[in-house]
Amino acid sequence: METTSPAAEIGPLALVEYPHPALARRAKPVVRLDDPLAAAVDRMFEIMYEAGGIGLAANQVALPYRLFVVNCSGHPDEGEELVFVNPVLSKPRGTAVQEEGCLSLPGVRMDVRRPARVVVDAWSLDGEPLHLDLDGLLARVVQHEYDHLDGRLFTDRLPEAATLEVRRSLETFREVFAGKQARGELPSTEVLVAELDRLEAARCTA
Ligand code: ZN
Repeated sequence: METTSPAAEIGPLALVEYPHPALARRAKPVVRLDDPLAAAVDRMFEIMYEAGGIGLAANQVALPYRLFVVNCSGHPDEGEELVFVNPVLSKPRGTAVQEEGCLSLPGVRMDVRRPARVVVDAWSLDGEPLHLDLDGLLARVVQHEYDHLDGRLFTDRLPEAATLEVRRSLETFREVFAGKQARGELPSTEVLVAELDRLEAARCTA
């Protein structure tokens, strides 16, 4: 039994949208897998299902950790719930183009070119090593979520013409976000970043 210090507490989680600073931040490896983090992962699955997603990275709920969850079925009672802690991708092979969307960019969908196959090594929440050679939808979701951990969105992977196409949408997201901050519906970027720093200090190495 481990008691949680106030410094390691995780508050109520919610999906964050572009351009929340958590999405642009490179997440740090987690070195402390504690009860609040396990509860946060359960909540991440709930949030993902509620939003109709099949993958969710920790920074999409403003947790600055290298961790994501996946269930390709998108339903709590079907498919397999996978948790990837501190994942590493290797051996990219082939090419596949498929339309992607992102819970942090609702309404935006674009074709994205990625390797068709990839190997992922990660840890489970229990600290068990995980090694999978992926293809198909799971390979795509894992690469999309892994990008989040590096502070990248799928819109960063588009060819030039498609980038121009989404530019206006991204601009609208930025205007909406700034408007919410101006009205006090969202904290200032400074406050959001300070919270990310606190959470990082609680479970990551310096
Ligand atoms: Zn996404």
